[in-house]
Amino acid sequence: MQSAKPKGRKPKERTVPQLVEEAAVILQRIVRVKAAIAENNRGLITCVACKKKNYWQRMNGGHFAGRDHINTKLLEENIHPLDVHCNKLNGHDGLVLVNYYEYLVEMYGKEFVDNDIRKAALIPKVYKRAEILESKAEFEQRLAELEKWLSCQAYEYRGAS
Ligand SMILES: [Zn+2]
Repeated sequence: MQSAKPKGRKPKERTVPQLVEEAAVILQRIVRVKAAIAENNRGLITCVACKKKNYWQRMNGGHFAGRDHINTKLLEENIHPLDVHCNKLNGHDGLVLVNYYEYLVEMYGKEFVDNDIRKAALIPKVYKRAEILESKAEFEQRLAELEKWLSCQAYEYRGAS
């Protein structure tokens, strides 16, 4: 459908899919910062698939049910740290998926993983603008709080060394 609105208006309003994408990127960062705080290992976090460690900035927030499934794209339980290698293979390599699945089952139980992630991923979802704006704002606020927490943790290391 062509928009009837005149061209050249500014600032350009983001589309709902763009907002969903931006919210997902923030959530992927939340997941990594959260892991860094939980692991409390000078910023190192663990890939849930191969268990290798790397700095959270160098890891990805990898979706178990792929990012193209909108209904689970912003589901936090569906996103966990993956290193770049595993994230690239995720969805293409059986072992990464099996390891990721086993991690999730251990974390949340098989029923949740099968119903609330795998089956839920297949349900169509269309966000309303107000809904996605609210989610995105919540994620931004949480991320800011978590990053503050992480920097306090880093300050304690420096103080201790
Ligand atoms: Zn890995």
